[in-house]
Amino acid sequence: MAPQQRHDIPQIELALITGSSTWGIRFPEDIQMDGVKLVARDVAFQTDYGLSENWKILEFAGHLTPDGQPRRALCIYQHGNNRDTIDHSCHQRTYAVLQAAGVKHILASSTIGALNRAIQVGDFVINADIVELTQSPYSLLPGRMRFDCSGKQIVCPVCAGIAANVARKYWPATGRVHGVELGLVAAHVYGPRLTTPAEVMAFRSMGADVINHSIAPEATLAREIGACFVPIAFVTAGFQDYFRPAGESLLRPGVVENLGTLSGRIALEAAARFPRTPECLCQKLKSPQAPERYDVW
Ligand SMILES: [Zn+2]
Repeated sequence: MAPQQRHDIPQIELALITGSSTWGIRFPEDIQMDGVKLVARDVAFQTDYGLSENWKILEFAGHLTPDGQPRRALCIYQHGNNRDTIDHSCHQRTYAVLQAAGVKHILASSTIGALNRAIQVGDFVINADIVELTQSPYSLLPGRMRFDCSGKQIVCPVCAGIAANVARKYWPATGRVHGVELGLVAAHVYGPRLTTPAEVMAFRSMGADVINHSIAPEATLAREIGACFVPIAFVTAGFQDYFRPAGESLLRPGVVENLGTLSGRIALEAAARFPRTPECLCQKLKSPQAPERYDVW
């Protein structure tokens, strides 16, 4: 691993979270997108929950942004997961950085499995809702009685619309772009073990259309820090693939290699276009509880 440079957390209102969708690609360097500059890489930030590593700082040129002004973004590798250990609290450290930075718009990209026969390998999905029955145990709220966080509109409709419009410009005709207006539901499991056939049927019976290893803590923590959140993903395993013989790989070969760079380009172009000031309700869906709930006992 490259040596990390410890920085103070900068004030930046935009963040990208990368994952399996760009495995094997230096993001954003290998996307080679005009107007995207790498300001710093291999950056580590100290948080109250430990050191958060593998950050990059990007800058978008004015021709990519809604107001024509350059715009910076924080970018974290692989959802903030440690490289050599399994540690589900990584999302808490990642979002502690985003909270301290004042981030208000977050785009997370990943790959997903389909739990719905109509969603095919190679499709691009922006889900509207999530199922995670235990929520994240790694909250950033200051206690249980100080804030209410709504579960409604967990995905930002404005940012999702922007991401879908960008995706529809570039996504190959062999796949489809499923936008947030379809109301698709993503189930969450932390992984890294892939989903069993019985789990597929269980999550499908609960109403989930796709399954993902990072979305629920990311969506929940975005609500907790008062930021808009949009997940973009493409399908690498189809519903029927979970039931094929054990010797056959679940993940279809070549899908990430064929679509990863394109997905990365969509992530960059969409994030650069997100509004600087909110045009949605998301950031008001965390609200203070009445003081007597924690002051009186
Ligand atoms: Zn929003």
